[in-house]
Amino acid sequence: MRFRTLAVGLLISGLALSACGKEGAPTDSGSGEGNGSAAPEMPTYEVAKDVKLEGSPTFDKMKSVGHPIVGVKEDQPGLGYKDPTTGKYSGFDIEIARYVAANLGFEPESIEFKAVPSAGREQALINGDVHYYVGTYTINDKRKQQVSFAGPYFVAGQGLLVQKDNTDINGKDDLKGKKVCSVSGSTPIQNVRDQGMTDQIVELQTYSQCVNQLAQGQVDAVTTDDAILKGYAAQEPDKFKVVGDTFSEEPYGIGLPKDDKVLRDKVNDALEASLEEGGAWQKIYDATLGKSGSTAEKPAIERY
Ligand code: GLU
Repeated sequence: MRFRTLAVGLLISGLALSACGKEGAPTDSGSGEGNGSAAPEMPTYEVAKDVKLEGSPTFDKMKSVGHPIVGVKEDQPGLGYKDPTTGKYSGFDIEIARYVAANLGFEPESIEFKAVPSAGREQALINGDVHYYVGTYTINDKRKQQVSFAGPYFVAGQGLLVQKDNTDINGKDDLKGKKVCSVSGSTPIQNVRDQGMTDQIVELQTYSQCVNQLAQGQVDAVTTDDAILKGYAAQEPDKFKVVGDTFSEEPYGIGLPKDDKVLRDKVNDALEASLEEGGAWQKIYDATLGKSGSTAEKPAIERY
């Protein structure tokens, strides 16, 4: 297994960590509220040596830049989050991005993260602004016309976030006549439109903008993947709650430039290894999204 937990690192931290070029102490403890119980350690990843990916133009670009440039979200706690005070990134997606980097032979700490909102993902990959993208990015056929996907590495479902004291929205059938906020270029906003759930849609660029509007009572609900909404609810449990059953399937993929099948296969190999018994996936989950007590089924990689 190309994986080791940090337990060993912690034991020797008094000795030689500063002399070691690998990722150091588990400073990224996620953004969730601590509950006093011992949080699982953030995993570290062994950096693969002498990786060669013949015929991958994207890998060639990473090599010439010297590190991967990875598109992410930075306002989605638990998934892709940049701490405004420390500048540190944390979350499930961030760890998946680091794990992939290590498997491509790059130090996870060398990643250059770039915030790219939902509506900009395809273009960022097409333009080569990012080498790969890890940010609650649903795999679907429409997007596959422009980009390609490794994965899925997680499966979410569309849900609803409302103010804590709201009693009249308990599911998608209660949205008629309500102001519902979601994000440009996302599958949830498309679903609201396609299914005519409400005609009062507020369309913004990021989910945190929607959540701000919800806090101020300017919208009645925010809709997107349950995994994202749970992160906001966990940050401010006195203000918000996630309600109802999920009403879509959102398999998350790692977005890649469309024609780079060599890279896609390599990333799928890495993801597959992470899903094996004792692999990185479960450890990443436990140290990020799983901290709230949620459990998740491991996805099956779909190669194409
Ligand atoms: N997973 C959905 C999508 O890819 C919603 C989350 C997002 O916008 O990132 O559109």
